[in-house]
Amino acid sequence: MPYRTARVTDGAADDSGHGAPDDAGRGASDDAAHGAPDGGVAGVETLTVAPGVLEAIVDHGRREYPREACGIVAGRDGRAQKVYPLANVASDPVRRYLIDAGQQRAALAAMRAEGQEPVAVFHSHPRTAAAPSGVDVDLAYHPELVYIIVSLAFDPPEVRAYRIDREARRVSPVALQVPQRAPGQGEQA
Ligand SMILES: [Zn+2]
Repeated sequence: MPYRTARVTDGAADDSGHGAPDDAGRGASDDAAHGAPDGGVAGVETLTVAPGVLEAIVDHGRREYPREACGIVAGRDGRAQKVYPLANVASDPVRRYLIDAGQQRAALAAMRAEGQEPVAVFHSHPRTAAAPSGVDVDLAYHPELVYIIVSLAFDPPEVRAYRIDREARRVSPVALQVPQRAPGQGEQA
């Protein structure tokens, strides 16, 4: 019998008889644990999001469906805390979004009155994945903000976040971290 145990040594020898899938799975988890001792992923920015924020973004996306929904998330010290759903005034709102300028001004005034500032801008993709489109990159004029995209093409909806360098056309994932809300972990990028 061509058991691979023949060349396996140490503690792993006992397990190899159970088949490759077990070994592969265990090896992968070991690698993950060693690669991210702090629980994060090396080199990936993390945005801390208060409980309820992602739900509010998804709710606005569902309300506006099949149009794209959009808005701003305000916060403090880089922590996203409050969602401002804003009107999409694009001429083709099923495929594009354009935040209403008047509502945006009012939202900025309101958040600053509460000692907050814009942390992220969000919009929905009613039928496509939660990844920035070419147009999204073209229009990403705010490198200081995190771009959150919710896709309603999946059930449950998928929420992902990115940092977008418009000039370099570079998109970097941002991990969303929701404290004290375990299900949110599944929404990490
Ligand atoms: Zn988009």
